[in-house]
Amino acid sequence: MRIVLLGPPGSGKGTQGDLVRDRYGFPKISSGDLLRDAVQKGTPLGRKAEACMNRGELVSDDVVVDMIQERIARPDCRNGYILDGFPRTTAQAERLAGIEHERNEIVLDIQVADQAIIQRLSQRRICSGCGAIFNLSADAGREVAKCRGCGGRLVRRDDDDPEVVRRRLEVYHAQTKPLAEYYSRKGVYRRIAGEGTVAEVFGRVIQELELRAPELSPVEAES
Ligand code: AMP
Repeated sequence: MRIVLLGPPGSGKGTQGDLVRDRYGFPKISSGDLLRDAVQKGTPLGRKAEACMNRGELVSDDVVVDMIQERIARPDCRNGYILDGFPRTTAQAERLAGIEHERNEIVLDIQVADQAIIQRLSQRRICSGCGAIFNLSADAGREVAKCRGCGGRLVRRDDDDPEVVRRRLEVYHAQTKPLAEYYSRKGVYRRIAGEGTVAEVFGRVIQELELRAPELSPVEAES
């Protein structure tokens, strides 16, 4: 099983991907997280990617596809995995299909209007320790200076700067939106309304997944 989460930046792919991972036990692979990790560690891949990321542009298909190919070859992906932020171009989707053409696939496109995205991303903070995602308005009234999970410091992503967000949205409309058509033709594409609370959106995600893939079953919660 391969679950692909599409949608503009800030549509909730990361948050929903974490919930899907926890429910079904598949690893969530976020291309953005892998790239940020490489940038932070100063690896050759990170050095190649950093300037593009800071401008809100896409990193080259070759770099990203190699990175994902290496990740999905690991044993924890054998039964399935969730992709968050990859593929982002039709060329990436074609390469992915070429790498693993036999996997069952469901593509959920989480849809949120641009205005709501701009608003959300201005409020988004991520944990510098574990990468958990917070939203200042949704978490208003609580202690949001620190991560509730690991106590790490919450920071704004460099590319959540409003100018860069505008560029990321342009790039999304030009380069990622066409994937809707690509996956519709394959018969695996479903739209999810991304407005509302995290729990409401997750309800729609589960409904769609379990309708399309009845073989999916929740893992037992660890005690
Ligand atoms: P994200 O965390 O998914 O919003 O990604 C942050 C940034 O990483 C993007 O704005 C791109 O610069 C880069 N990136 C992430 N995924 C991809 C991808 N599949 N292809 C190209 N660039 C990517």
